[in-house]
Amino acid sequence: MYEDDTILIKGKYKFTALCRVPPEYLLNLYAKKNKANPELYEYIEKNLSLIKSRAIGALEIPELHIVCKKIVYSSEKVAKAELKRISEMNNDHKIPVRSYRCEVCGGFHLTSKPLY
Ligand SMILES: [Zn+2]
Repeated sequence: MYEDDTILIKGKYKFTALCRVPPEYLLNLYAKKNKANPELYEYIEKNLSLIKSRAIGALEIPELHIVCKKIVYSSEKVAKAELKRISEMNNDHKIPVRSYRCEVCGGFHLTSKPLY
């Protein structure tokens, strides 16, 4: 069952926790009876009044304190330093190519996926 802190794994807001997905988007899905993701639809249905309150700004979107499974770096500088360190080690593993700010935990992670 989907909760506020469930991370979407597909769709437009992939990798975003449900409470961070714009409420308008969720309400729009609901209005269109879009059940492409039945669990998401169920979440919207169950939390409809909550989502509506968020949509009109009556309720603040909560800060999340999820700890990501990936290594979290406190700043971009630290992440880049680690990136440099790893790229200088000669190994056969996939090496990270960039750092990025994580929308889930607010920290920085490294990824081997290029931006484009
Ligand atoms: Zn994260």
